[in-house]
Amino acid sequence: MQLVDQWNRRIRKLRVSLTDQCNLRCRYCMPLHPEFLDKSSYLTPQQYKEVIGELLDYGIEEVRITGGEPLVRQDFDEVIQELAKLKIPSLSLTTNGLLLHRYWDVLKAANVLNLNVSLDSLQPSTQAAIARRDCLADILRNIQEGIARGFSLKVNTVVMRGINDCELFDFVEFARKTGVTVRFLELMRVGYANSLYEEHYVSAQECIARLQERYTLTPLPAAPDSTAFYFTIDENVKVGFIASESQPFCSSCSRWRLTADGRLFACLFSEEGLSVRDKTPGQRQQIYQQLLGMKPLRRVEQVSHPMYGLGG
Ligand code: SAM
Ligand code: SF4
Repeated sequence: MQLVDQWNRRIRKLRVSLTDQCNLRCRYCMPLHPEFLDKSSYLTPQQYKEVIGELLDYGIEEVRITGGEPLVRQDFDEVIQELAKLKIPSLSLTTNGLLLHRYWDVLKAANVLNLNVSLDSLQPSTQAAIARRDCLADILRNIQEGIARGFSLKVNTVVMRGINDCELFDFVEFARKTGVTVRFLELMRVGYANSLYEEHYVSAQECIARLQERYTLTPLPAAPDSTAFYFTIDENVKVGFIASESQPFCSSCSRWRLTADGRLFACLFSEEGLSVRDKTPGQRQQIYQQLLGMKPLRRVEQVSHPMYGLGG
């Protein structure tokens, strides 16, 4: 069985949340005192392996580990080691970068070489104000270390008017200096970001227009189901944009999400998920069929559930 829905969208990517907890409190993502899942509800490393292994048979090709902050999960290394046994064609990680230094060897051994590191400002005080923790130096140190160790890094930056949109050029120069790809994300109307949206949303088009005042941007070809589109600036600087508000990609979306407590969601904007925890393979097959019919074709305007719970 392949996971293809009635609109001919084939599900081939899975975002996997290891925890909803985090060591930062980014204002657009989490409140200061969030309510977290009970850890006893988390999927075990073996349960992740069982469900994801089955989904590989159904056509999943790319798995990205996320959260919350995946590296705060205490048995992170065990989960990664279990997943490595599956020989997933593409296994990657999205992290705030703060704890990467603990896991270089674990990641290398599991062939997790593509890392997305979230970083919203190159100014210590702005990054601290967004993340509600003084963290820039530690994140930068781990980015440098990752590059030196041969990992392929992308930096994800949520652009917010009046907060960090004055740093677009600084991020391009950071990309030039370090060789990482920087991706500028539009602020999405998910959870806590809803209250910031009106004042702070900046479209990708506006960012591109601003960058074009100084640089020539040359578009690069993109996969049909890619969430990001890319440009080169000069010869060796690559920047990307994720324009999920102004240019939603729902009609070609190929992604499902698995939460830390084993609920599968067809879309980041779905209110409802289906639990695959403690189910038999036969029951799960029915759940996959049902979920195929739950993926919206068009972008839902906004959702109130928080990003950290569903896996960003
Ligand atoms: N903690 C990890 C991190 O920060 O990379 C992984 C989880 S986080 C939810 C994944 C990504 O979602 C981050 O790049 C974060 O900036 C982004 N994000 C969270 N809320 C967002 C929002 N409302 N709009 C756009 N991006 C958002
Ligand atoms: Fe944590 Fe990532 Fe959310 Fe920031 S965006 S609070 S680092 S989960």
